[in-house]
Amino acid sequence: MKVCKFGGTSLASAEQIKKVCKIIVSDSDRRIAVVSAPGKRFSGDTKVTDLLIETAKAFISRGEASEELSAVVERYDEICDDLGLDVAVKTKIKLDLEALLELDCSNTNKFTDALKAAGEDNVAKITAEYLKKIGYSANYINPKDAGLFLSDEFGSARVLNRSFNNLKKYFSTTNSISIFPGFFGYSPDGSIVTFSRGGSDITGSILAAAVNADVYENFTDVNSVFAANPKIIDNPVPISEITYREMRELSYAGFTVLHEETLAPVYKAGIPVNIRNTNNPNSPGTMIVPSREVYGNVVAGIAGDRGFCSVYVSKYLMNREIGFGRKLLQIFEEEGLSYEHTPSGIDDISVILRESNFTTDIEEKITARIKNELNIDSISVIRDSAMIIIVGEGMRYNLGISSKATSALARAGINIEMLNQGSSEISIMIGVKGSDCEKAIKAIYNEFFSSAE
Ligand code: ASP
Repeated sequence: MKVCKFGGTSLASAEQIKKVCKIIVSDSDRRIAVVSAPGKRFSGDTKVTDLLIETAKAFISRGEASEELSAVVERYDEICDDLGLDVAVKTKIKLDLEALLELDCSNTNKFTDALKAAGEDNVAKITAEYLKKIGYSANYINPKDAGLFLSDEFGSARVLNRSFNNLKKYFSTTNSISIFPGFFGYSPDGSIVTFSRGGSDITGSILAAAVNADVYENFTDVNSVFAANPKIIDNPVPISEITYREMRELSYAGFTVLHEETLAPVYKAGIPVNIRNTNNPNSPGTMIVPSREVYGNVVAGIAGDRGFCSVYVSKYLMNREIGFGRKLLQIFEEEGLSYEHTPSGIDDISVILRESNFTTDIEEKITARIKNELNIDSISVIRDSAMIIIVGEGMRYNLGISSKATSALARAGINIEMLNQGSSEISIMIGVKGSDCEKAIKAIYNEFFSSAE
């Protein structure tokens, strides 16, 4: 049994939905398909989810949003017409969308989630209708009926454990192809709640884990995951197989193939994920697996992201002071900040954070507290840093990876602000100036991959 998930561009138009249906029916193991809301048809187009968010905003501020809503209705009308569906289908969708504006909007987050969910909900209904029209037995599945319950954190829900059993039970009795809307579920009190943006990936992963699928196929618009960002490196090497851990480390520093929370359910269940291309279904894509044999290049991929900052603290004899690290991190905790890494020396430590969370107000507060409470020698803050991450399962058994990377950076005239080997030994993280980010990725990529090309 395979669970497959299709991203927004795969459902952006009738033509794309036809491709999706062709893929689903071409393999009888594809029993459950999760769909995202229709995405962009061309660059400059607007995703249906964004249209729905605009509608919610307008309604909340003006008490009226008929114009915004009609842009959504038009998208679905066009899809239904181009698929040749019965007029009743599009009329029902129109009425359902209009009914959303009758909802109570006093809780703005709850109201916005109800609107956002309509993006995937309606395209799931359309896909199921189209499959029936072309002669297959298919059903739209409502996440509430199937038992997908989430925490009531609107816009950033988490799956509740009981959902896995509910879904397993539900799907043990279905025979037809199930089309399941991604991105949302229901809170225990019955309200619609969505995951954070891009969350249909999470729905697919939860379903795959619940039914113990053989594979979770994630169809998008790229042939595979690449060893580096194709926007920075021309024709980077495609990755045919990568472990969950490698993928997680790479996505941390800007690899945006899957939603960050996607891998957790399938990882626990040991289910491989296959990234594939709706527009090129014959390409085998990239397999994300629990473990793999390392052959060839020990480096699997390189990623980099800007927007980091570090708080550097030094104190003579820090290494002897029991509890220093805990007290330091406690200050960050009490100010509501999560940190990313804490590389340390004998008498110094840096706390690395995402810059977006570290406003100048918080910076002042935290530096004052550290000075007052920890009796330190010096403190400084470095902003606009980039983290470059080099990842590969094989790195553990190979010498000289860091030296190759640092020499490549030296040759490119890039100064290293921080170097940290992850405790798992499958990654090396290098901090450089934000403005050096792309140059550093290029230098390191060429070092490790130029011969592979
Ligand atoms: N439609 C939602 C979004 O645009 C969820 C998704 O596509 O996965 O964020």
